[in-house]
Amino acid sequence: RDFQHVGLILGVTGIVGNSLAEILPRSDTPGGPWKVYGVARRPRPDWNANRPIEYIQCDISDQEETQAKLSKLTDVTHIFYVTWASRPTEVENCQINGAMFRNVLRSIIPNAPNIRHVCLQTGGKHYAGPFDCIGKIPSHDPPFTEDLPRLNVPLFYYNQEDILFEEVDKRQGLTWSIHRPCGIFGFSPHSLMNIVGTLCVYAAICKHEGFPLLFPGTKETWEGFSEYSDADLIAEQEIWAAVDPNGRNEAFNCTNGDVFKWKHLWKVLAEQFEIENYGFGDEKGSERVGLEEVMKGKENVWEEIVRENQLQPTKLNEVAVWSFADTVMNLGAGYLVSMNKSKEHGFLGFRNSKNSFVTWIGRLKSHRIVP
Ligand code: NAD
Repeated sequence: RDFQHVGLILGVTGIVGNSLAEILPRSDTPGGPWKVYGVARRPRPDWNANRPIEYIQCDISDQEETQAKLSKLTDVTHIFYVTWASRPTEVENCQINGAMFRNVLRSIIPNAPNIRHVCLQTGGKHYAGPFDCIGKIPSHDPPFTEDLPRLNVPLFYYNQEDILFEEVDKRQGLTWSIHRPCGIFGFSPHSLMNIVGTLCVYAAICKHEGFPLLFPGTKETWEGFSEYSDADLIAEQEIWAAVDPNGRNEAFNCTNGDVFKWKHLWKVLAEQFEIENYGFGDEKGSERVGLEEVMKGKENVWEEIVRENQLQPTKLNEVAVWSFADTVMNLGAGYLVSMNKSKEHGFLGFRNSKNSFVTWIGRLKSHRIVP
């Protein structure tokens, strides 16, 4: 088969990597037909096995392994970098994520004569800083636009951008785009940050144990306006920027384009798991107990749920990232970004966040990750 373009997805089992792996090979995808390579660290999981891609298991933090495995991919035309590693401090995050990104670019760019474009996915922390700094350092006033200056804190996104500019400059005509989603609604039991999956597992445990489905965050997050990014929409924006001249050499925010309140989506979550007793919970006192605490020791309960419902075998700490859910549900609300630049450049995609939430819950259920 003759392919027009060859995409390399770094982080193919991640939350957006999974969407790219599904969308890129479709016959009507812009720039197609695409041949697709997908890289992830672990062996190929069952739920990824039917994607028409060439799966490459490679630890991109290992320079030698990356050179050995990726420098052979000489037909790559487009890189989609949708991966990251988490370390205890942001200084360590800068080191590891910078090294991973550099390993990939230095393995591919000098060896792929037809390489045209590199997409880098970062995120909304570009404007507010790492999670542990939010609210503690002076940051920008939302809605955030792409032209705002960097904050004066270490952040691995800034390092990755600098590495991108440095490496891309070495090859004439090679273009780039940077994509900054907010929290992502998507599907991946291998994601370090997956809010839909984590909330579904929480709901499944509440249902199984007969507990009320209580909101783990603050009143501000419950009542205020939130904004999220659908994983398929992010993939669509990345593909658009990769092939449309208007998307070249620019950074773009990427969100659904609407706002919602968690108190409304909470009802949706409860309905999806047939839970009648749900809500914000005890309004007295500001000391709310997070999911990390409430869900401590529930590994056996999850095993039981998996067994009883004949789900895909998963470990609780793979499918639920309690600390991440606690963090985002305690951030408050109003961290909104502007989608004007993306629209002005010609990407008009959007999602209805409620429908997006329901869709991804449906996919988790149909893949037998949650009951
Ligand atoms: P993810 O955590 O969902 O997936 C990571 C993928 O990379 C997985 O396929 C994993 O196997 C792979 N991977 C991890 N380490 C690897 C290694 N050493 N070698 C090879 N593969 C490796 O990724 P994500 O959440 O899409 O994150 C991509 C970017 O998006 C990050 O910068 C992140 O901060 C940003 N972001 C994520 C969210 C979110 O809600 N998930 C929100 C905003 C921004």
